[in-house]
Amino acid sequence: MKTLWNLPTVDLVSFSEVEETRPALLVTSTPAWNVVSSQLRGLNVAATLEATEATTDHWDALRSKISGQQLDIVYAVGGGLTADAGKHIAARLGLPLTVLPTALSVDAFFTAASGIRRDGCVYYIETQVPGRLILDLDVIAAAPAAIRAAGITDVMSIATGCWDWEFAHEQGKNPPGMEFVPWVYNNAQSILNGVLDCADAAGRGDREGLKTLYDCLAMEVQLCNQVGHARPEEGSEHYFAYCAENFTGHGWPHGDLVGPGIMIMAKLQGQDTRRYEAALEACHIPLDRIPAGITDRTLRVLPSYCQRHNLPFGLAHTL
Ligand SMILES: [Zn+2]
Repeated sequence: MKTLWNLPTVDLVSFSEVEETRPALLVTSTPAWNVVSSQLRGLNVAATLEATEATTDHWDALRSKISGQQLDIVYAVGGGLTADAGKHIAARLGLPLTVLPTALSVDAFFTAASGIRRDGCVYYIETQVPGRLILDLDVIAAAPAAIRAAGITDVMSIATGCWDWEFAHEQGKNPPGMEFVPWVYNNAQSILNGVLDCADAAGRGDREGLKTLYDCLAMEVQLCNQVGHARPEEGSEHYFAYCAENFTGHGWPHGDLVGPGIMIMAKLQGQDTRRYEAALEACHIPLDRIPAGITDRTLRVLPSYCQRHNLPFGLAHTL
């Protein structure tokens, strides 16, 4: 069976209006919960778990702590790691899942997969789409500037990911199932333009700008859902991020690695990067956080890294 996934139903509503009487498993992180718990008194929290690593072993160990408890629904409150852990745990428990993002930091809130770390790379395992996503734009606007709109990197990666996809096509290196599709490419470019246009507004916490960023994230995810792979938005910039993490250590925000990855790869691809740089800066993505020595080491090992992890062909394979 092949499944074409859907997006979560999104309710644009204040966290303080959320009412849940069913006994809920809360998956969250302490920093996120400290900020929003006073607004979420409507939840009936029966148990709480905090994920600190992106591995199935860790998530399964957390799940074993609540075995035997009466739980009817999972609420994931926080960022990307929390959402990924929540999706895995809800899928294993066979429970519905509601996600409450506290920042628009990644596209993981909208996808059917969870990213896990294995052997120094990031892999995506199928878990479940959140049935409901509660988007409180006031909460997002109040998030720390550096993560509030960092999900722009998962839309802007279209700039370099699509370039790679076309490059692979020209070299005859797209395997069956990942064939280059011009209308999908063109749709992705349109989403990229939409996100570049909203970057200033989203970056300063403007509600309409954040809503547009959410629209672009949702459309990027659904486009990938339709084609069944992530080539329109994942390429050398993500490979750079996955590889660099081996040198920076875990725990860096996704955007802090993908943002520089977009700039580095777009330049190597010969693209005009001025608009990209302005958009990333408007969304407060730090472009100088990775030490030069780590960037150099990453680029040196990247071709063999891409081969070893069997990543779909892109510019990173040829550096
Ligand atoms: Zn990503």
